[in-house]
Amino acid sequence: MSRRYLIAGNWKMNGSLSANAVLLSELSLKQDQYSGIDMLVCPPAPYLESVGRQLGGGILLGAQNLSDQTKAGAYTGEVLGEMLAELGCRYVIVGHSERRALYGEDDATVARKFIAAQASGLIPILCVGETLEERESDATEAVLGRQLGAVVAAAGVGAFAKAVIAYEPVWAIGTGRTATAEQAQAAHAFLRGQLAAQDAKIANSTQLLYGGSVKADNAASLLSCDDVDGGLIGGASLKAADFLAICAAAQALSKN
Ligand code: PEP
Repeated sequence: MSRRYLIAGNWKMNGSLSANAVLLSELSLKQDQYSGIDMLVCPPAPYLESVGRQLGGGILLGAQNLSDQTKAGAYTGEVLGEMLAELGCRYVIVGHSERRALYGEDDATVARKFIAAQASGLIPILCVGETLEERESDATEAVLGRQLGAVVAAAGVGAFAKAVIAYEPVWAIGTGRTATAEQAQAAHAFLRGQLAAQDAKIANSTQLLYGGSVKADNAASLLSCDDVDGGLIGGASLKAADFLAICAAAQALSKN
């Protein structure tokens, strides 16, 4: 089966109304050239509505986080999945390593957020990845297996028919260090194998993104790996030329 490439921009806590407008107008001008791939932007929550309006549908909209609650109520500061869906979000990132490390999200919380996302009709982008210490102590597969396994146990493997997984080695995020194509492929093959052990059809269709200092000059080699179906892009998603160059690499490899 040929899986479609998804190039997702995680803007993190960056942007302003004026900077977003400039970035989006540059992306919109070129989006027609990338009809063989899916392009997604995930701005900070306060900008979702205005970004959604400016995108006009060609480029997809996603959020960076959501509440683990599935019903409205007294949860000050939290954002319900349904609210994101109402603003036009199709995707939401869950379990990003910054949320795990800085905001104490553990595997159980990430699993609840994954389930809450799907309950609202959103496609969760589940981030998993090992730290440098874990890689150097040969624990990469154990960590990936544990992080993915927690969600499979809570949501069931069937849930991955409508989910995306992003392999993001923590040591490569925002550091300028990138996994080699071989390291990325090995991790992706391991993750796909974990799903395949339970359901081969779902494993074959689930999109697996690589994230960690993806740039114009390394995108083609990472995206050409058999089990890499796109990228989750941080820093390079904030500059139109950089993000579009990554989209162009995916489009060139796309069979669509
Ligand atoms: C990310 O935070 O998801 C990410 C991949 O960031 P960067 O591309 O900046 O490493």
